[in-house]
Amino acid sequence: MPCIKCRRPETAYTFRVLEVQTLHIRDLDGEKRVQALGGFREFSVCADCARAQLSKARGFWGNLREKGAPYGIVLLLGIAVTAIWNPAAAQLRLVGWAAVACGGIGAAAAVQKAILQKRRACELPQAEAAEQSAWECVLRAAPKKYGENDLEYIPIDEKTCSTKEADLMLRYDLLPAIAEKAYRMLHEIPEKEEAAGTAK
Ligand SMILES: [Zn+2]
Repeated sequence: MPCIKCRRPETAYTFRVLEVQTLHIRDLDGEKRVQALGGFREFSVCADCARAQLSKARGFWGNLREKGAPYGIVLLLGIAVTAIWNPAAAQLRLVGWAAVACGGIGAAAAVQKAILQKRRACELPQAEAAEQSAWECVLRAAPKKYGENDLEYIPIDEKTCSTKEADLMLRYDLLPAIAEKAYRMLHEIPEKEEAAGTAK
């Protein structure tokens, strides 16, 4: 299987995942979710793509740019607007202060997140960090939609296999019936019944 990112045939990491399909339905009663499991799939990543992703994760500025850029723009626009000293533009200045506040809070959170992400990536042993980065490549490059359905992927590894049904439900935002079915599929327990879950 070629690398999911650059399509190179030589790959270093292969991940087995369980696909989760979620359809959001809006009607008069509000929003409903219909969920189904799409079966097992495999995604591969080459060593170069994993390495590139890792150096990105270990770099503070790249992380900050990715997460903080929109807030930075709002903050700068806010500062520019509040700098207008024309008394007739008092209301506009209020909007400017609101933008400074929102942009400032968002930018501060992005800085904190970038510091945390860099620390986490630097603390992990090289092999583990590279594998984590390869998984990050999968999450970024794997299809996010199938028709109207949102797609998400549960990695099939030791950690997932030792996770309890209720924790699977919480961690991957699964409906109870789907969490039960996922648990059965992970542990190869025969199905009781085939059903797609529906909940509000
Ligand atoms: Zn690649």
